[in-house]
Amino acid sequence: MNKLLIFIETDENKIVRVSKEISKYACENFNDVEINGLLLTANEYKEDLINELQDSGLDNLYVSVDDKFKSYAPQACAAAITSFLRNNPQNIFLLGATAQGRELAPRVAARNNLGLTADCTEIAVDEQGKLLATRPTYGGQLMATIVSKTVPEFATIRPGALKSKGQVSEKVLNIYYYNPDIQNIIESIKVISSEKKAVKNDIESAKLIVAGGLGMKTKANFELIYKFAELIGAQPAASRAAVELGWAEPDIQVGQTGHTVAPKLYLAFGISGAMQHLVGISGADRIIAVNTDKNAPIFESADVGIVADAAEVLKQLIDIAK
Ligand SMILES: Cc1cc2nc3c(=O)[nH]c(=O)nc-3n(C[C@H](O)[C@H](O)[C@H](O)COP(=O)(O)OP(=O)(O)OC[C@H]3O[C@@H](n4cnc5c(N)ncnc54)[C@H](O)[C@@H]3O)c2cc1C
Repeated sequence: MNKLLIFIETDENKIVRVSKEISKYACENFNDVEINGLLLTANEYKEDLINELQDSGLDNLYVSVDDKFKSYAPQACAAAITSFLRNNPQNIFLLGATAQGRELAPRVAARNNLGLTADCTEIAVDEQGKLLATRPTYGGQLMATIVSKTVPEFATIRPGALKSKGQVSEKVLNIYYYNPDIQNIIESIKVISSEKKAVKNDIESAKLIVAGGLGMKTKANFELIYKFAELIGAQPAASRAAVELGWAEPDIQVGQTGHTVAPKLYLAFGISGAMQHLVGISGADRIIAVNTDKNAPIFESADVGIVADAAEVLKQLIDIAK
């Protein structure tokens, strides 16, 4: 049976969301694949972290316990992963395209002479069990599905890109301890202190999003996006073009170079539906788009399309919501 390994990332001693997204997605969609997780942790956090993974869809969890993993230690992590992969060969290796994952993945790729498909928005496994890793390419003009020539087939996955069907895994999680022998690894970077940036906009976990683009026409009109979002308890969002004009902050940009979102409902006002925007909303359950151009590409992805002036529709919606 093919083996898939997921690097279980932690942040402040909690499992990060994308690690669970990958394991749930793999469990729900990949047949005849053994799904393994590798967790690197300090002893004091191990029990809570293991508990968090009970219904994650993993078959086996390999736990390496070492004080070096008390805070993020990229060299020790890369060495531990390398040691694990050499002793427990895997067909596929996946980790989240988070800040940590984006640093760790190239280190692991270089140590193991592996190709790396970074920042994937879709994954599948073909009949031979090979990983089909899809990501935007040519500046987002195309989606490329990449099959690696090296093994394990290695990819990082964008947070929010893989949508679970919500099935509860009934698998019994087997726990194994793995000692990677990393005593000789000396981190060249020492973390003296760290400060968590307050998350102003948790756009990736928002269930309802009201997004605006250039079709809002003016910054004053774009304020209607914020107003309506606030009235209905939604998260405001913007296209890159709207961010570039200073109508919205970069932290609410959706798309290839912004956030990947997976809301139950995505309301798009005056957004054309460029490929680079669409890759960020492919996980949305429902899309409603308002655009004056009946041929706008967003309508091909939308469940409901309204050909109308975005600002006018928003004003009416605001009146109703009040
Ligand atoms: C490498 C790269 C990365 C990128 N990353 C991103 C990204 O992360 N996110 C992103 O969004 N873009 C990204 N882009 C940019 C992307 O290609 C588009 O340029 C951008 O998404 C367009 O934004 P928009 O839809 O707001 O504007 P436009 O494409 O200009 O669309 C405006 C839409 O509004 C409609 N409209 C006009 N007037 C009205 C009105 N009165 N009422 C209603 N509708 C109206 C128009 O018909 C049009 O469809 C990226 C581009 C590159 C090259």
